[in-house]
Amino acid sequence: MPGQDTRIVLLGVGHTNAHVLDMWRREPIAGARLVCVSSFAEATYSGMLPGTLSGQYPPGTLEIDLRSLAQAARAELVVEPAAGVDVEAGTVQFEKHESLPFDILSVGAGSVPNRAGMDAAPGAWVPIKPMQTFLIRLYERLQELARQDREELRVLVIGGGVGGIEISFCLPAYLRRVLGEVGHAITIVDAGERIGGGLSPRALPRAEALLEARGVEVITGTRVTRVEARETVCADGRRIPADLVILAAGAAPPPVLENTALPKDPKGFLLTRETLQSTGSENVFAVGDSGTMADVAVPKAGVYAVRQGPALWHNIGALARGEPLSPYEPQHDFLRLLNTGDGKALMDYKGWAVHARWCWRFKDYLDSRFMARFRVVRR
Ligand SMILES: Cc1cc2nc3c(=O)[nH]c(=O)nc-3n(C[C@H](O)[C@H](O)[C@H](O)COP(=O)(O)OP(=O)(O)OC[C@H]3O[C@@H](n4cnc5c(N)ncnc54)[C@H](O)[C@@H]3O)c2cc1C
Repeated sequence: MPGQDTRIVLLGVGHTNAHVLDMWRREPIAGARLVCVSSFAEATYSGMLPGTLSGQYPPGTLEIDLRSLAQAARAELVVEPAAGVDVEAGTVQFEKHESLPFDILSVGAGSVPNRAGMDAAPGAWVPIKPMQTFLIRLYERLQELARQDREELRVLVIGGGVGGIEISFCLPAYLRRVLGEVGHAITIVDAGERIGGGLSPRALPRAEALLEARGVEVITGTRVTRVEARETVCADGRRIPADLVILAAGAAPPPVLENTALPKDPKGFLLTRETLQSTGSENVFAVGDSGTMADVAVPKAGVYAVRQGPALWHNIGALARGEPLSPYEPQHDFLRLLNTGDGKALMDYKGWAVHARWCWRFKDYLDSRFMARFRVVRR
């Protein structure tokens, strides 16, 4: 393995790779350089997006300032989307920037909403990713809609996963802040038989009852095929009137993975061993949503992405020093806390479902503690 001046490159600085950058700030790996590649100068923490919509957090609270963090870590930051990875040549490629060589690469470019089988008229929907621009795109769409005459704003959320559910809970407060007291109706549409994939049998009915109590309609078992400016068409011929359409459907691979010739799962995410190394190259790690462990089923969730951070940090160091790597062992169950936008959260843990104010305070504590690690003062 490489010796002096080992070049370690992080492609995407999200929930997992941010841990490496933070650890590098505390104790860099001797004889190595760190280069971070990010489409934006900020990373976003999805756990705080619903709370930002509901006004519980000021805008910007969900952002990690990568320039400050990279500067504090004495790491290089390239703010440009990577276009692909040439594994043979050992380079990350860009459309405008010259290729960047690496000795060790960690691909943590997240995921994008699944658009398979769907298309949309220009400007007709607001995809949740890139999350860095979601709030601005949402605001602009609402401004556009505010100029049109309508009695009630009809909102459609495509995707009834945990993200889509939390958005439906927290969006009304945002609509009020931007548009004032306008009437609105929110619908969630999901191709599955039920929404809330991954929620426990106790928590799912609680989430459904809370949505019903807020007047959120849930349509399941139908696939959206086309989003028009004023209505959305489904595969079964149903037409759902909708002015604002938010695309929050399940995770698909980010475009950069298409131009990366490494083994992939059937969806197109990079297949990894238990050490988080690609099954096709020991010098490439794939983490968070971008990676799929070949032998263990791990949900594409931020909780797992965050927990991979320490394992990735250990293994990058071990690989650079020529030491043995350790397996990452995913936990079997995890705590889910859904922000219901009313000062409470719905907690789903080990078969328990509790909807209470203390659950929100607990979520806020955990999320704020996570973000505090990355808040550094720029010199
Ligand atoms: C609304 C919403 C709420 C959610 N809430 C939760 C929750 O409460 N709990 C939970 O466990 N999970 C939650 N998730 C899922 C969670 O967000 C993801 O699992 C998590 O973000 C994955 O982390 P990551 O590091 O893989 O990717 P990310 O955190 O998305 O980071 C990837 C980074 O790579 C950058 N990038 C992408 N492509 C390129 C490129 N070509 N070049 C350079 N940079 C690139 C992106 O801009 C981004 O900054 C939620 C998701 C959504 C949409």
